[in-house]
Amino acid sequence: MSRQAKAVVCREWGAPIQVETITVDGPKRDEVTIKVAACGVCHSDHSASTGKIQYPPPLVLGHEAAGVVIEVGEGVTELKVGDYVVSTFITMCGKCRNCVRGRPVLCENARKSMVTLPDGTVRTHGKDGEPLNVFGACGVMAEYATLHIDNCVKIEEGTPMSSAALIGCAVITGVGSVFNTAQVEPGSRTAVFGIGGVGLNAIQGCAIAGAEMVIAVDTNEKKLETAREFGATHTININDVDDVSKAIKKLSGGGVDYAFECVGSGKVVEQAFKALGRAGTVVVVGVADMSDKTSINTFTLPADERTIKGSWLGSARPQYDFPRILNLYKANRLKLDELVTQTYSIDEAPQAFADMLSGKNAARGVIIFD
Ligand SMILES: [Zn+2]
Ligand SMILES: [Zn+2]
Repeated sequence: MSRQAKAVVCREWGAPIQVETITVDGPKRDEVTIKVAACGVCHSDHSASTGKIQYPPPLVLGHEAAGVVIEVGEGVTELKVGDYVVSTFITMCGKCRNCVRGRPVLCENARKSMVTLPDGTVRTHGKDGEPLNVFGACGVMAEYATLHIDNCVKIEEGTPMSSAALIGCAVITGVGSVFNTAQVEPGSRTAVFGIGGVGLNAIQGCAIAGAEMVIAVDTNEKKLETAREFGATHTININDVDDVSKAIKKLSGGGVDYAFECVGSGKVVEQAFKALGRAGTVVVVGVADMSDKTSINTFTLPADERTIKGSWLGSARPQYDFPRILNLYKANRLKLDELVTQTYSIDEAPQAFADMLSGKNAARGVIIFD
């Protein structure tokens, strides 16, 4: 059945986001409709609304949510009404070379359904019946959403929804970059540049992986304080040092084994690279502008056996990684509740975006639905 839902919609790149009532159609084959309980507000939602991420409007925002299944489509056996799920915007065909070798974030067919469901159509319409695109096959900043079952990961009933919601983007991107992309070993010396929602998760990932040293780097003192709560052993405020790379080298006795760049800036990649010790690896997690470039000393690549590697969505395999993260949370080894710095109603979505842009939310603002 079709349902009316309040949703956060981008009507035009660069224009303010709008909260409007849309129609969400029921599920087709291999799809489910969920009643969204909570949805994180991510920088990528803002980037989609400005056109930095080129998802064509009109676009229902939201890709980091948790909810309850209220209707299942034909052929769905994995999920039933009442199941708790977390959304994932990693669209995987399950058949291409990258999918079958366990790299679904690099699915060769993912680009076919960036703003639609995998079949190329949408279940969302505006008041004139016009189709509305959905962010990353999700569009979950809405009271209801219809998703393909591959974009849902079942979680245990009773999991706090505002915390679970964040697994799908901020948590997996940060923690996954440590566990999956870098595979940080116990005893490593690490540094994390940029302490937003993703950076905090890279920090707790390093701590859980048994890093000996976790250096948090940012310009915001409040964020650095939060970083300590998430497992940073040291903090550096860039404003307090002449050369952050030298400061890290000194602190770590010659440079770190892993530096995580969670900003999305060639300049910061350069600082992270210079902060490496011999055999060190820079993991670039932040997503820079398309035109951004970086410059590194080529000689040190072979001479110090350094590595630069990218991490896309924490190299996630959602159906495997999300339950693993929740188990760490249940064992009190990974923080989720503390990532929710502020909650909002859907009508307050414009404020939630403003607070994110002003850096007011140390970790994440989350929209909570009734
Ligand atoms: Zn996100
Ligand atoms: Zn694929």
